[in-house]
Amino acid sequence: MAHSNTPPSKTPQSTIHRAEDVVRELRDGKPSAKMPVMFVGHGNPMNAVTDNAFSREWAKIGKELTVPRAIICMSAHWLTKGSFITAMPNPITIHDFFGFPDAMYDVKYPAPGDPPLASEVCQIVKGIEEDHEWGLDHGAWSFLVKMFPHADIPVLQLSVDYSKSPEQQYGLTRELTSLREKGVLFIGSGNIVHNLRAASFDNATPYDWALEFDAMSKKLIETGDHQALVHYKKLGRAADMSIPTDEHYRPMLTTLALSDPNERVRFFNEAIDAASISMRSFILS
Ligand code: ZN
Repeated sequence: MAHSNTPPSKTPQSTIHRAEDVVRELRDGKPSAKMPVMFVGHGNPMNAVTDNAFSREWAKIGKELTVPRAIICMSAHWLTKGSFITAMPNPITIHDFFGFPDAMYDVKYPAPGDPPLASEVCQIVKGIEEDHEWGLDHGAWSFLVKMFPHADIPVLQLSVDYSKSPEQQYGLTRELTSLREKGVLFIGSGNIVHNLRAASFDNATPYDWALEFDAMSKKLIETGDHQALVHYKKLGRAADMSIPTDEHYRPMLTTLALSDPNERVRFFNEAIDAASISMRSFILS
């Protein structure tokens, strides 16, 4: 049985080792609760070192979730030809940005990897290969530092394969859904509306098209119309403006691909930041 972060019957002392307890139970063959799937709108990398409404919500969600055995995070910031999953025992923290304050380059997220799990992923999905060179980029660590600050849960990163169509990628990753029964939490990390060119960082009013596509996506997620979201190029001007390139959008599609029909969706961080970046995030369970 998986442990909640704050089980009422546990003393604070015993909850300190909760991740290890879960790993041990899984290795002993005890059944695990089915993990939810989650999409996180990560937005501005500065959220990693800023106390704001977004980062506070990440911290809150981390305390509410059942502690996973491992996390697989598809990051919008790892684009590859072919699909890859990090397979090293100790992935490095990658600072994949320029011109930020020193505090951002000081952030380290020393979560371990899980090579056996990476190997299992590659067995389940033949089109995914092991990677031994990448690590954790800010698409993963910028919210994980708030959500799971102890960095004691193994994290594997999954790339966005730009050589595949959104439809192909949706189909490929669907097969990973069986890992949810084994204590693995899948998190897609990107932004549903992401038009950096149009972004305005002085608290500008959100663009009409950003609000329109954000609301449209919400409805399609709620009604489970994944095919409409996969074929976003047919959704009109608001979609065109919101997804000028789709690397930040695709992790959301993969999150949906791993969900089951009839699962309940819970949205969080429902806001447009910098006029053109939707922070809309959700958990399906
Ligand atoms: Zn990003």
